[in-house]
Amino acid sequence: MKYYVLFGPPGAGKGTFAKLLVENKGYYHISTGDLLRNEIAAGTPLGLEAKSLIEKGNLVPDDVVCGMIRAQFSSNPGVRGFLLDGFPRTVAQAEALDKILSGMGAELTRVVSIYITDEEVRRRIKGRALVENRADDADDEIISTRIKNYHEKTEPVINYYKKQGKYFEVVADGTIQENYAKVEKLVD
Ligand code: AMP
Repeated sequence: MKYYVLFGPPGAGKGTFAKLLVENKGYYHISTGDLLRNEIAAGTPLGLEAKSLIEKGNLVPDDVVCGMIRAQFSSNPGVRGFLLDGFPRTVAQAEALDKILSGMGAELTRVVSIYITDEEVRRRIKGRALVENRADDADDEIISTRIKNYHEKTEPVINYYKKQGKYFEVVADGTIQENYAKVEKLVD
C-alpha cells in the first residue's frame, strides 16, 4: 500500500492535483479540510469546534485531525493507496502519522511538495473565493493568518521529511497541466 502526502501552502493546487491523481492512478484522496467542512455542514460537535478556528484561518488541534486520518485509513482497507492532502500541517502531526503507519506495519512512501510564492498564494486563493464560496478564502486578513500559520507551523514539516529522505518538491510555475505532469512523475 502506498501512502503519499501532497504538501504545500494554501492554494498550491493540492486538491486539484489529488483529484487528477485519483482519476489517473486510482488512489484514495483524504483531504482533512474537506472532512472538516463536511463536519461543519453536518453540524456535529467536532464541526462546531472546528468552525471558529477555520473561519479565522487557524489550525484545528492535532489530535482532532489525527483521529480523522486514523478513521479514514481503517474504513478504506481495499484501496491501492492514499493521497493525504492538507495533512500533516505540523511536525506533531507528521510524527503522529509515522506512528499510525508503523502501527499498521506500513510507512510513508514520499512527500510531494508543491511550491508557490506567497504572492501567488494570495492571487490563487482570491480566484478560488469567487468559485468555491469558502469563508476563509474571502478575507485578506484571514488569508494573511493562513500564510503566517503555514510558515510558522507547517513549513518545519519540510525538514522533518528531508531528514527521512522522503521530500520531493515541484515548482508550480507553469500551467495546471504542466504542473500536474511534474507531480504525476513523482507518484507511482
Ligand atoms: P484546507 O482545505 O486544507 O485549506 O483546510 C482548511 C482549513 O481546515 C485550514 O485552514 C485549517 O483551519 C483546517 N485544517 C485542515 N487540515 C488541517 C490539519 N491537518 N491540521 C489542522 N487544521 C487543518
